[in-house]
Amino acid sequence: MNFDTPITIALSKGRIFEQTLPLLAHAGIVAVDDPETSRKLILETNHPLVKLLIIRATDVPTYVQWGAADLGVAGKDVLMEHGGDGLYEPLDLQIARCRLMVAGAKGANLSGNQLRIATKYVNATRSYFAGKGQQVEVIKLYGSMELAPLVGLSDLIVDLVESGNTLKANGLVPLEHIMDISSRLVVNKASWKMKHAAVVHLLGALREAVERREHSKD
Ligand code: ATP
Ligand code: MG
Repeated sequence: MNFDTPITIALSKGRIFEQTLPLLAHAGIVAVDDPETSRKLILETNHPLVKLLIIRATDVPTYVQWGAADLGVAGKDVLMEHGGDGLYEPLDLQIARCRLMVAGAKGANLSGNQLRIATKYVNATRSYFAGKGQQVEVIKLYGSMELAPLVGLSDLIVDLVESGNTLKANGLVPLEHIMDISSRLVVNKASWKMKHAAVVHLLGALREAVERREHSKD
């Protein structure tokens, strides 16, 4: 990998880190430590100028927006809630795929006004129901949304669904599909200009890795 500017990439632990690693490897970048076992928040890579920051998924756009990281990987869900200020979103990495859905008890009423919806995804939820012309009350939670309808906190939830097993285990079902979610590469707007050669180089390598992987699935 041929560039001479320091580059910092913000990632969250877990599925995003695991699924981004093979894409970075295609770009010639390999982490020296494993964030699941190391407590380090800044990981060195085989490339002396490339560092990985390991942070909470919802903090990734913030670090990139403020230029504390040049690049980042964040779910579309997280980007919608953040709003995207100060960021470019040039590439869909097509990893950490899931669906944003309305869920609730089987047969729950979806159409009334003043329904209470518990969710971590306040902005996406408001705009979805506004788009249907429906007035709803949104209750912000930070996790375990499935509990809310079970104890009468809300009528419905809006959450990410992959297999539906977590919903099912709590007696809930997916009711409406809001949108497909995947993780995106985000780039700080100043880095895009000031570190253009390095950023474009990495972007190209990552795009190629995504395309190759998609083709190998056919
Ligand atoms: P934290 O667990 O730190 O509170 P988080 O739940 O947002 O944060 P992760 O569970 O690692 O963090 O999820 C990171 C991203 O992966 C999410 O923003 C979303 O885009 C995607 N994601 C979340 N849940 C799923 C899922 N069940 N299947 C596939 N992708 C998911
Ligand atoms: Mg999680």
